[in-house]
Amino acid sequence: MIQIKNAIKTYQNGSDKLYATNNVSLDIKDNEFVVILGESGSGKTTLMNLISGLDSVDSGSIMYDGEDICTLNDKELTKFRRDNTAFIFQAYYLLPALTVSQNIKLGAFLSGENEIQKIIDSLKLTGKENKLPAALSGGEKQRVAIARAIAKNPKVLFCDEPTGALDEETGKDVINYILKLQRENGFTVIMVTHNENIAKYATKIVRMNSGEIREIISC
Ligand code: ADP
Ligand code: MG
Repeated sequence: MIQIKNAIKTYQNGSDKLYATNNVSLDIKDNEFVVILGESGSGKTTLMNLISGLDSVDSGSIMYDGEDICTLNDKELTKFRRDNTAFIFQAYYLLPALTVSQNIKLGAFLSGENEIQKIIDSLKLTGKENKLPAALSGGEKQRVAIARAIAKNPKVLFCDEPTGALDEETGKDVINYILKLQRENGFTVIMVTHNENIAKYATKIVRMNSGEIREIISC
């Protein structure tokens, strides 16, 4: 269970303070599929970075099973992120000189060979293990990025606009792969997007505007 309480993050904007997230509170249960929607600049990425411990709040708390990650020092926070989180972004961030298989194994210190092969098979990447990212389509690259994230065996998978660079059909495929892996492996998904179509997969829809949560719908 993740509980975000009154999270405030500001940036200095000339002489003004910009509230990237303004007093945001949200509860997320284990194995939820949370979709955070909002226009560009509404604070989605900031909120995701706060929840994942990539960024720190000005005030407020981010509790994981009752433990506030805002009180952790840098070393503890690094360990928290390593043990609990994985990320997928719009830009796939694969290492171009490494094969599919090597890219997937990068973060996979928690998974054995068999588990990794299962993930590769689940993402229909079987047979592509020795290809370089340049030889893959956009959808395949994102599937490799998903495999790399899942091979970490995360408790929470954070996705920032994971379909942003893909056409609609391929984007749908990517979401369905994430849903399938969530069913198979059990983890929480927190997905930031401005694509309203993705909301239909959510267990919880969060709408942001100007750094504030305007609506939370439990589905
Ligand atoms: P979204 O992901 O919804 O597009 P962001 O969370 O990236 O929105 O940004 C929310 C607001 O905070 C925007 O006005 C953005 O310009 C500002 N912002 C985000 N990151 C920074 C930063 N590192 N420095 C200054 N302003 C920032
Ligand atoms: Mg963003």
